[in-house]
This record gives sequence, structure tokens and C-alpha cells, in this order.
Amino acid sequence: MSSIKENVQSIQEKMFNACLRAGRNPESVKLMAVSKFHPQEAVFEAIEAGLDLFGENRVQEAAEKFPAVLEQNPDVSLHLIGSLQKNKVKHIVPLASCIQSVDRFDLAEEIVRQCGKVQRTTPLKLLFEVHTGEDSKAGFTDLDELLRTVEFCEANAGCGIVPAGFMTMAPFTDEEEAIRASFRKLVKIRNQVQTRFSALKLDELSMGMSADFEIAIEEGSSLIRVGTAIFGERVYA
Ligand SMILES: *Cc1c(COP(=O)(O)O)cnc(C)c1O
Repeated sequence: MSSIKENVQSIQEKMFNACLRAGRNPESVKLMAVSKFHPQEAVFEAIEAGLDLFGENRVQEAAEKFPAVLEQNPDVSLHLIGSLQKNKVKHIVPLASCIQSVDRFDLAEEIVRQCGKVQRTTPLKLLFEVHTGEDSKAGFTDLDELLRTVEFCEANAGCGIVPAGFMTMAPFTDEEEAIRASFRKLVKIRNQVQTRFSALKLDELSMGMSADFEIAIEEGSSLIRVGTAIFGERVYA
């Protein structure tokens, strides 16, 4: 079995080559390590391998694993990438630098409410998760609700949040065209929304996972979320 460090190096090489193929600056794509279902030791190993951006799906798991990690590593940041219940928002707001899974209006409202209560040194970034693939359930499906949510976040920027971009998951398939279509749909929606809200800077495009990050980079991803290819298979207890 290869080590986390070897895995990271191999992914970085593939990222670099995908950027070259697409005529993109290799510095324009960030690598996030998705550490869900992997122990804290694995996170420390990934930090040793040079990574500083982590993603977790569930608030409780993040709250068990990350306070110590962040305490000891001020340069490390954590994003929440999984679907978020309103009653968990208050527990993740003090811990994360970004919530990538803003997928409905009332969740944005609750995030703003909780940001008003917590002293953060930097504003909490928000990404709007958009449904772009057939079999995923997550994300906005209704453009009007998305626009209404972005408008609400714009009106409340300054209350400890910054709307920063979009996230999506491509369908789980090996049909490359279906995966590309999903990523292209996100880029198109980003462009539409950006045009409507020109005061915001909605540059972050979080797309691509272990199986499809090279395609995502070719389609314009600025942040790939990689779990299995770094840490190995997840063991669901
Ligand atoms: C688990 C997960 C990932 C990472 O998936 P891998 O296929 O293991 O790379 C990325 N994004 C989200 C939203 C996830 O839930």
C-alpha cells in the first residue's frame, strides 16, 4: 500500500498535467484532502505531506477531529462539504473557514444568524451547492431559490460571511461525457449568477473528486476534493 505522501505526490503530478493540458496555471487549483471516516493520525500525516486544506462531511466528526488539528496547525483550514442540518450550524461556524454545502435558503439564514453570535477572526466563506448530475440528491435545483439565496447572502455580507463561489458533485458514472456535462453546467450557472451579482467575487468552483478531478480541472475547477485517492478506501463502521 502506498503512503499518504506518495498518494499526494501522484495526485499533484496529475493535477499539474491536467492544468498543462487545459492551458491553466497550476497554481490556480487547490487540493483539499477529504478526511471523513479517517482518523486524526491520517490528517496529521497529510499535513506532514504538505496539505493544509481539509474537508469533512459531518459536523460531529469534524468537531471530534479538528479542534486539536487547527490548534496545533494555524495554517490549516477546514471546510464543511456535507449536507448540513440547521441545528448543527452553530457547532460548525466556529470551526470551519468555509461551508461548501449551502443548498437552501433557510440554511443560509441560519448561518448568518449564527455568524452574528460568534467572534470569528475571518469571515466564513460560503459556496452554493448546485445539483448538476442525475443521481445526486444534494444541491439547489431551482435557479430562483439559488438567486434568492445569493441575494440574501450579498445583503448580509459584512455579517461575518462572504459568498465565494459554487460546489457540485458529478454523477457516479464512468461516462466521461456525463461527468463533463455536470461540471460545465456548474460553470454556466456560476457565470449566470456572477453576472447578476457583479459586486460579489464568486470565483471558487469546487468540483472534482478522486475519480474525476482531472476532468474537473479541464473544465475549470479551482478546488478539488479528494478522499480515497489520498487516504485509501473508507471503512464505514
Ligand atoms: C466524500 C466526498 C468527497 C471525496 O470523495 P472521494 O471519491 O473519496 O475522493 C468529495 N466531495 C464530497 C462532497 C464528499 O462527500
